[in-house]
Amino acid sequence: MGLLSLGTPLTWFESRQYNEHVKKNGVQQLLYIFKAAGSRKDDILLWGDELEFMLCQFDEKKKNVMLTVKDDDVLKILNTEELEFCKAHNASFHAEYGRYMVEATPAEPYRGQVNDYVEKNMRERRAIVEKHFKERGIELLSLAAFPRMGCEEFTNIEHPWDHHNEASRSLYLPDEIINRHARFPTLTSNIRTRRGEKVCMNVPMYQDEKTPKNDDTVYTRDWFSSEDKEGPLAMKRGQIYMDSMGFGMGCCCLQLTFQTPTVGKARYLYDTLANFAPIMLAATAASPAFKGWLADQDVRWNVISGAVDDRTPFERGVEPLLPEYNNGHGASIMKNPIRIPKSRYSVVDLFLGGNAFFDRKFNDTDVPLNEEVLQTLQENSIFTMDYDLARHFAHLYIRDPLVIFQECVNQDNKTSTDHFENIQSTNWQTLRFKPPTQQATPDNKTVPGWRVEFRPMEIQLTDFENAAYSNFIYLIVEAILEFNSEINGYMPMSQIWANMDTAHHRDAVLTEKFYWKQDFENTLTGEYTMDEIFHNEGNGIFPIFIDRILKHKGYVSTNWRDLRASENGSLVRLYYYLKLVSDRAAGILPTTAKFMRDYVLSHNSYSQDSRVSKDINFDLLRVVERISHLDNSNKDVTNFLGQEIAQYILEHRI
Ligand code: ADP
Ligand code: MG
Ligand code: MG
Ligand code: MG
Ligand code: MG
Ligand code: MG
Repeated sequence: MGLLSLGTPLTWFESRQYNEHVKKNGVQQLLYIFKAAGSRKDDILLWGDELEFMLCQFDEKKKNVMLTVKDDDVLKILNTEELEFCKAHNASFHAEYGRYMVEATPAEPYRGQVNDYVEKNMRERRAIVEKHFKERGIELLSLAAFPRMGCEEFTNIEHPWDHHNEASRSLYLPDEIINRHARFPTLTSNIRTRRGEKVCMNVPMYQDEKTPKNDDTVYTRDWFSSEDKEGPLAMKRGQIYMDSMGFGMGCCCLQLTFQTPTVGKARYLYDTLANFAPIMLAATAASPAFKGWLADQDVRWNVISGAVDDRTPFERGVEPLLPEYNNGHGASIMKNPIRIPKSRYSVVDLFLGGNAFFDRKFNDTDVPLNEEVLQTLQENSIFTMDYDLARHFAHLYIRDPLVIFQECVNQDNKTSTDHFENIQSTNWQTLRFKPPTQQATPDNKTVPGWRVEFRPMEIQLTDFENAAYSNFIYLIVEAILEFNSEINGYMPMSQIWANMDTAHHRDAVLTEKFYWKQDFENTLTGEYTMDEIFHNEGNGIFPIFIDRILKHKGYVSTNWRDLRASENGSLVRLYYYLKLVSDRAAGILPTTAKFMRDYVLSHNSYSQDSRVSKDINFDLLRVVERISHLDNSNKDVTNFLGQEIAQYILEHRI
């Protein structure tokens, strides 16, 4: 989550009068940022990760695991009494959407290539939270999606349904799972209100012998006059039906942010990473089950995308589910409502351009723009933005602010970025182009410069894996920036969108083909398996990015496998990080999603009906817990990571 302003958040009906005000002033703030920081240069490659965790309560007697909503005081403690302690361990903890969630980042970003330090820092972060829960039956799991989210007894609320869940109005998720900070329930209810209906996610159900034809957990209720009638209309045959923001924003991911030397390099990095996003989503797949059902997909992305989809039926180009109740809300007061092809949480929309490899023809998808913003950014008295970058922001500004705080309506555009961040931080895309603040003048290196965030990856069970994917992307980023005059990563945006769909498919790593560059000098693309995309000599990620940068820096003479024989322990560990990424992409090791799905399918009490029961979930999450602590007493680590990697990490604990 971005922005956590203090104060009184306004409901949708109170706040929408300020929508244009926020957008107008947000654009001014953006222009002052460019004026201040546009000519910044020589910023170094600082970077950092964000890990998200779930606090899970294990009930040994009932053989049930619950998301705990009673332990969020840990965040307060970590940010007050223990703040200095956390800083001393270079750890920082943040609130997330779920009351059961904790986000953890390094307090200070990493400087360049740091290999095993990433894992050491991740390990410390995990340990700092865990020490609060020793002997209490609560485990901190880095689980992408909680398999029984929304099922009976999935949280430790005693009487979840003796009162109404006003914010989400979900049939499944009580409001107590939402973070207590007023921003989060308001965000939930404002998205629903603007949309005019509850959000609706239908995910294909895994088909087994006795899988029912429909999600049989859908029911009607009479608490909320229209929302309670939506389920049977919104659900689809053979799909898992979900109706609330928490199903998506309650998922966990691994994000990485990289600082670039200049704004121009940030644009180039963003564009070059665009097609890595769907590839890495598929490569890190870790979400095989939702709402107690095995899904016929492996990742969380489209669930979050639907979970915050605030578009009105008109904007989505569909009829309302219940026309007699839906008076259009947002749409009814819009001057000129437009059709919007996708959710504000989705794949990137536009390349940012600004370099010699870029050609506007690559932006070949239907991307609506806020024309007024497009105009203002290019013609004003503060800073003249070029068309291609103006187009990116003009797209972000087709969205309305989702939460406005009463106290923050009026701001000084020369110093504040709140209105800009309001729109920016609720455009959740696979990449985020992060401008600095107005303080970031060229000579002020005490504040961050231009950054790019890589956001698609699913969180992994162990610090080792999360460090592996972080280091892998770091090396790619370093290669892109180092060889910027040689690497041409452009391809049609429509192919990146298509890759994003493909990345959702079950076992995409093993069975699908993705669009990928035929080489990185020209612009032709072809369709390739994941194994080819990672390993091909002429266009694979390992040869073209990883080996090239490692050779350039003098760490290897032929390829990354040379690291194994290094005298330097942190480089040997880097070898095992890269081996994990490589083996999974080659199908030698299972993705987290495949491992978890196979566990469910082969569990004693599984009845070929795609259901993840309480006891299956309990046993599964015990395995997950053992793996995350590198407890190999049941051979779980070996089964999951393979003999060679398991043996190395068990013998070289961090
Ligand atoms: P958000 O939730 O908005 O993406 P966070 O503050 O949670 O932002 O995480 C940002 C990440 O960026 C952290 O890992 C942090 O260490 C890292 N970071 C901080 N400063 C810089 C910088 N100057 N350059 C690159 N990364 C940075
Ligand atoms: Mg987060
Ligand atoms: Mg964050
Ligand atoms: Mg954030
Ligand atoms: Mg999240
Ligand atoms: Mg982030």
